[in-house]
Amino acid sequence: MSKFWSPLVNDLVPYVPGEQPKMANLVKLNTNENPFGPSPKVIEAIQAELNDSLRLYPDPEGESLRKTIAGYHKVKPEQVFLGNGSDEVLAHIFYGLFQHGEPILFPDITYSFYPVYCGLYHIEGKRIPLNDRFEINPDDYAQPNGGVIFPNPNAPTGRYLNLSEVEKILQANPDRVVVVDEAYIDFGGESAIRLVDDYPNLLVSQTLSKARSLAGLRVGFAVGHPDLIEALNRVKNSFNSYPLDRLALAGAQAAYEDEAWFRKCCDGVISERERLTEALEGLGFEVLPSKANFVFARPQSKAGEALAQALREQGIIVRHFNKPRIDQFLRITIGTPEQNDALIGALELM
Ligand code: PMP
Repeated sequence: MSKFWSPLVNDLVPYVPGEQPKMANLVKLNTNENPFGPSPKVIEAIQAELNDSLRLYPDPEGESLRKTIAGYHKVKPEQVFLGNGSDEVLAHIFYGLFQHGEPILFPDITYSFYPVYCGLYHIEGKRIPLNDRFEINPDDYAQPNGGVIFPNPNAPTGRYLNLSEVEKILQANPDRVVVVDEAYIDFGGESAIRLVDDYPNLLVSQTLSKARSLAGLRVGFAVGHPDLIEALNRVKNSFNSYPLDRLALAGAQAAYEDEAWFRKCCDGVISERERLTEALEGLGFEVLPSKANFVFARPQSKAGEALAQALREQGIIVRHFNKPRIDQFLRITIGTPEQNDALIGALELM
């Protein structure tokens, strides 16, 4: 704290992102990036954009990319909102679409940015416990609230809620915005985007950081009723009119134009996830069923934190959360076959 700080900053409890170690040759399975890398067409498109046009501001509306994403998801461009990663999209959602005076509902084990945004915007959050199988129970979301948000699949559990269950939450809250954060939807789940025309209170957010391997480019988006999108545009234009730079717009566009690469990456992650799950179970781990690009697994004998530390000493980084109920678990990002082999090999010797 310093005398120069605003009182608003004194009270902030910021999000702590996963570690990005500088050492080479690490088996980095801690922040749910895609091990297969972006499409070569993305690199080409970004290189082609490195020219004199960089002196000009980018399109503030990202119209061309919004059209592409809308076409891909069979919605209208005015139903798409772009942001600098889905974290920024979520920040604008918390500011622009959640009501004050009643709590925002989210699972008690979930993405830890949600309570941070509640703190930033001075809105109350209420954590709704997961059931004993670490699942979201839709019936628990039928209570007074200022808005609802949950990831599907949930993070860090990887557990997925069927669309009929998502609809129960939407139907219980016709006067509140329900946000489905689909950062991990492409690894086996079905997107709620196909419900947006039936539910004016539904907003779905997605990212290009995971299945499209572009965490470094920072592109995310939300899809919903044009009224919801208009509120988000108001917030955006009061904050940063140009969330996506020219390189990000070009790269994201190219990512959508290489469906074959996208499918290959998703299929690769899914098949490696099944293989890693079996191997971990063979080693005595309890592994929650996952539809994400990570697994959440509890070792039989060793404590979670000690195991994460032992792996780190072997150059393998996984994520451990020092939180009640999940402190015995490790969240392990699905790596390349070679990375997963390295992990399995190290665990076999422990
Ligand atoms: N939602 C969830 C559930 C996540 O795990 C993440 C990644 N940390 C994000 C959103 C944000 O992703 P990005 O800002 O890279 O789009």
